[in-house]
Amino acid sequence: MLKCHPGGLRGIVNSCGHLPLAVRLVSWMRDVALAARRKFGAGSITHCCLKMKKRVLEMDTARAALALSVVATLLPMPVLAHGSSSESLVRMSSQREGDVTHFFVENLQAADVTVTLEVTSENLKSSNRLPLTRTVPGKERIELASVSPVAPEKPWKWSYTYYATFGSLDAKHDDSYVYALPYAPGHTFRGSQGFRGKYSHFGPNEFAIDWKMPLGTAVHAARAGVVVAVKDDSDFGGGDSSYDTDANYVLVRHSDGTLGHYVHLLKDGARVQVGNHVRTGDLIALSGNTGHSTGPHLHFSVFKARNGKERETVPIRYQTASGDAVVLETGKNYKALGTPAILASPKGPVKETVGMGGS
Ligand SMILES: [Zn+2]
Repeated sequence: MLKCHPGGLRGIVNSCGHLPLAVRLVSWMRDVALAARRKFGAGSITHCCLKMKKRVLEMDTARAALALSVVATLLPMPVLAHGSSSESLVRMSSQREGDVTHFFVENLQAADVTVTLEVTSENLKSSNRLPLTRTVPGKERIELASVSPVAPEKPWKWSYTYYATFGSLDAKHDDSYVYALPYAPGHTFRGSQGFRGKYSHFGPNEFAIDWKMPLGTAVHAARAGVVVAVKDDSDFGGGDSSYDTDANYVLVRHSDGTLGHYVHLLKDGARVQVGNHVRTGDLIALSGNTGHSTGPHLHFSVFKARNGKERETVPIRYQTASGDAVVLETGKNYKALGTPAILASPKGPVKETVGMGGS
């Protein structure tokens, strides 16, 4: 059985807030600290510290040195980011207005992304109940929450952790929809791992399907929609979870808000771009073996977000050459409905060769 894990869709980044107590020690120190904050940007201390090297040279030397020492000694050290996925999905930032700190999230993707924000704080109240989870539409920036001191005369502090994953909380799958097999009409491939496959189809991949197929097999859209994410720059794959983020994929947003996820594609194998509208049956990519995968195959699932940490796949049915609304099973062969495409040629019809093979 092919090991399969689409991966690369979630992560975690920690950031730390600032401590106003530090800047209230003496008035001149506060001036310096605030100047440093303006210089370094209004973001988290993590971002602040990362920007120090770049920006300190731009500051007045004495002022910069003092500001650095204030920030370095009186504020908590940043918690290092780990897992780059969330960072590539969204950008978190905080902005101070008087005693109020606003937390913003910007979706860097064209696809819906769902974010969960967890805040640990002392002497602060939040505008929204925490932790909170929101879906951020593609390319939008929204305020998630703001915090302000319960007792303004006393010290306060915060730190936050956020999680982000592709998909919308609001999507409601149209269970009456019957999907096309995601390969060329008339071609047959074996379902190498079905729903709840014990190898890797559980948790967020519970209702995924794998088809064993040769490298370079034409992948066709199983359902119409808009392409909202494409990755095809990876040439790495293997049977280890360290390859999770190396999977190439195409994400198609369906009319009900769910996402179709075509995974392990060939390097440079995408045949669509973000923003393209695709119809059922359109060629969208070539299959591969990238990411967490032990052999050439295509992994496909339809999912929505459960929260910022997890997505949930939905059980779907397929139209095949021999049946309608079929629930695919591990180990069975499935032929796509229709006849293989015949390409026009001056010398007469030539049978399409892309996508031949299968098992
Ligand atoms: Zn799979």
